[in-house]
Amino acid sequence: QAEYHAGLQKALLAGNKVLASGGTAIDAVKAAINEMELNPIFNAGRGAVFTNEGKNELDSSIMDGKTLMAGAVAGVTNIKHPINCADIVRTKSPHGAETVDPKWFLTQNRYDQLKKAQEKEQVILDHDGATKKKTANAELYIDPLMYDYKYGTVGAVALDKDGNLAAGTSTGGMTNKRYGRIGDSPVIGAGTYANNKSVAVSATGSGEKFIRTSAAFNVHSRYTHLGENVQKAGDAVIKEIGDIKGTGGMIILDAKGNFAFPMNSGGMHRGMIDSKGVPMTAMFGDEQLRHFKAK
Ligand code: ASP
Repeated sequence: QAEYHAGLQKALLAGNKVLASGGTAIDAVKAAINEMELNPIFNAGRGAVFTNEGKNELDSSIMDGKTLMAGAVAGVTNIKHPINCADIVRTKSPHGAETVDPKWFLTQNRYDQLKKAQEKEQVILDHDGATKKKTANAELYIDPLMYDYKYGTVGAVALDKDGNLAAGTSTGGMTNKRYGRIGDSPVIGAGTYANNKSVAVSATGSGEKFIRTSAAFNVHSRYTHLGENVQKAGDAVIKEIGDIKGTGGMIILDAKGNFAFPMNSGGMHRGMIDSKGVPMTAMFGDEQLRHFKAK
């Protein structure tokens, strides 16, 4: 627990340093997330969870509330700071890579391999009862697991002196994820959203459910169109996620500095810092934010 409080404090102080010296919300978000990507206790950058094949595949996104410009990367395997790469996508896109017609990738060899694989799969599926049961078990297996662990994706939201909001999220995704699976974290509007007119949001939890409820954009919409405050809008979206058996939480900040941490998981490591410069952190669901002093 002490390590988590200390890790969160470090991230908060790094972000605050940027803001206190007149930096932008985007740079503060990056600074905070960079600290957590370096810290192996968080599921982002170093220390990210493993895929089914024993690899680390990282997803990240960032959004600027002033311009609504956003960038994201998914499934990256050799970039030290995925959040910085997402920001390069935001600022430098179109990214100058050579593009080709998708047909360019087609070769007969690979196509034949695909056909063989599909034939095999057909055989497996023909063991019908077993397959169905297996699918059901996989669901049952995933959900309790998701419920118990405190989501380790990292995120940051910031408001700078010019009133600009920004949000960023970085993750290794879910433990044992299958090849190419990407969750909500690199999806703008699901895991990340920022708009100066409303809120900045970063989410963690069962990514598929956050995508299906357009979670981060949903908070923005409720705040904008229904006039709900950050807590009310966040709670309503978490309820929608709970209704489809999703779990997790969000960090939300509005352009007036109001913030909320709605969640339906047992806990979510979280913290906040304002112009007084004192980092406040908490871990469990019912815990109040407090200033943690290392012994
Ligand atoms: N939301 C992430 C994902 O689904 C996982 C997490 O937050 O731990 O990839």
